[in-house]
Amino acid sequence: MIDEKAPCSFEELGLPNTLLKALHSVGYETPSPIQAASIPPLMKGGDIIGQAQTGTGKTAAFALPILAKIDSKKNIPQALVLTPTRELAIQVAEALQSYARHMKGFHVLPLYGGQDMRGQLRQLSRGVQVVVGTPGRLLDHLRRKSLDLSDLKMLVLDEADEMLRMGFIDDVETILSHTSGTQQTALFSATLPAPIRKVANRFLKNPEHIHIQGQAVTVDTINQRYWMVNQRQKLDALTRLLEFEAIEAAIIFVRTRETTTELAEKISARGYSCAAINGDMSQSQREKTIRDLKKGAIDILVATDVAARGLDVERISHVVNYDIPYDSEAYIHRIGRTGRAGRTGNAILFVTPREQRLLGSIEKTTGQRIARLELPTSQDITTQRVQRFKQRISEARAVTPKGFFDSLVIDLCNELDESPESLAATLAYLLQQDRPLRAEPQEHEKFSKKDRPSRKADNTRNETRKDDGKPRRDSEGSRKPRKRTQESSETELETFRVEVGETNQVTPGDIVGAIANEAGIDSQYFGRIEIKENYSTIELPTGMPKEVLKHLRKVWVRNKKLEMSRVQEGGKPAPAKAIRKSPAKKRKTEGSAKR
Ligand code: AMP
Repeated sequence: MIDEKAPCSFEELGLPNTLLKALHSVGYETPSPIQAASIPPLMKGGDIIGQAQTGTGKTAAFALPILAKIDSKKNIPQALVLTPTRELAIQVAEALQSYARHMKGFHVLPLYGGQDMRGQLRQLSRGVQVVVGTPGRLLDHLRRKSLDLSDLKMLVLDEADEMLRMGFIDDVETILSHTSGTQQTALFSATLPAPIRKVANRFLKNPEHIHIQGQAVTVDTINQRYWMVNQRQKLDALTRLLEFEAIEAAIIFVRTRETTTELAEKISARGYSCAAINGDMSQSQREKTIRDLKKGAIDILVATDVAARGLDVERISHVVNYDIPYDSEAYIHRIGRTGRAGRTGNAILFVTPREQRLLGSIEKTTGQRIARLELPTSQDITTQRVQRFKQRISEARAVTPKGFFDSLVIDLCNELDESPESLAATLAYLLQQDRPLRAEPQEHEKFSKKDRPSRKADNTRNETRKDDGKPRRDSEGSRKPRKRTQESSETELETFRVEVGETNQVTPGDIVGAIANEAGIDSQYFGRIEIKENYSTIELPTGMPKEVLKHLRKVWVRNKKLEMSRVQEGGKPAPAKAIRKSPAKKRKTEGSAKR
């Protein structure tokens, strides 16, 4: 039996009422471990190093103290959050905005490259209290003197190890040296390689080190699988799983109260007996729901962690982690709801690409590898539906009254001049017209497998993180590909050309940053980058969708559009028409030793 840890409350963390009210509206029930550990020292004014990954709730861990401390009557930057990517900058700015929903006059501004400078300058001159930005663009503003950091009360380095990996660490140091040094600083990073510790030693004052430790546990009666899924594909994926898996009863874990009710409604609308259970419900309501689950009046429960604490229902055959839990302990608590009373259970975990590291840390804590789940294809679903249909017909034969129906069919065949087979097909169609037997392909099936990050890539990802993360440059200013293991060298790469080069003072880091942000390609998948006088070439995985390439053509780096194009073998850019018509020529990458 796993210990149930008593949660602390947001009220105990010393946050002002405006923020407590907002947290209630967004549906957070209790602080996540990193929040419970980081908010008190930050509220007291100390510096911290928070070792936490995406998905652990680290944004609120620093956003809430920032909001508690700024003066929204003063229209000057009082807090700065540095993020490695544009995507994260937007996400953090949105989170701040949502927690500040009851703070009048609050302004947060995300600043990132690839966006029109004039708009950013206009917004800065109107006044903001919190700036969230990527290093390159922040430096541009500091050089132009359009951003003043002299009144900062708090500075946050978010995903510091990602910034290192993307080659931004020197920029980060330059930005930090533009501050007065009197502000409070929080550094969040999943790992603490030497260059990050160096930054921490130089810029943080007696930081408290917060590391949410995992405890080793094994859960061997549970078959654990995960599925890599984008946020917007989750509902489709769940629908498919519910249909395909042999589920007796399931508990689906989500993060917020709102999601419990929304998702329960959607699942009910798909014909399942489903209910939500969350911390807003009274104890007696919750008990009734659990009784319903026990006796089979409900088969699926959508729950938050708090509501499902200690839940013990033998018939739960599946636990679905629709939202990945913040930490490994929560995962172990959750999956412990199945595989009870000597039965075997199933745990299925949805992981978004940004949450891959959490998956790794769960595996480390449980000491078990979680197998990748291949979602059933539309063909699998169709086959299963047809089998069930045949089974239904076959069982119905025994109870079909003879005589009346036989003569009805014979009459119909005669009247319509149809064969019995064709008439049976019409009847089968009538029976199933509201629940088609043929499954439509879902969005995730439209992408080829090689476009999805594989576990092989996950493994090499860990290896590449052992390096210092800086893009390596050879004597000609090119970025050498990271050391590739045999597995990662299986990724096929093709060469692209971008119209920025030495004359634009572009660095490999600029190119990686822009493309990684805009195309959502993890920087580990980048191959060699060569900076030439007026252009650069870059190796990227084959199969880039044409809309992505079209978008990348318009992205700006160092005041110039990338105008990205595919390079044909032989070094010339492929003509625009050829890009559209012929598939890109694929070639296997050579091993790093040959480069
Ligand atoms: P983060 O690690 O900051 O990216 O947060 C991951 C997700 O957890 C986001 O969707 C947050 O909205 C959500 N989240 C953060 N803190 C809490 C909390 N205390 N309760 C429920 N959800 C939370």
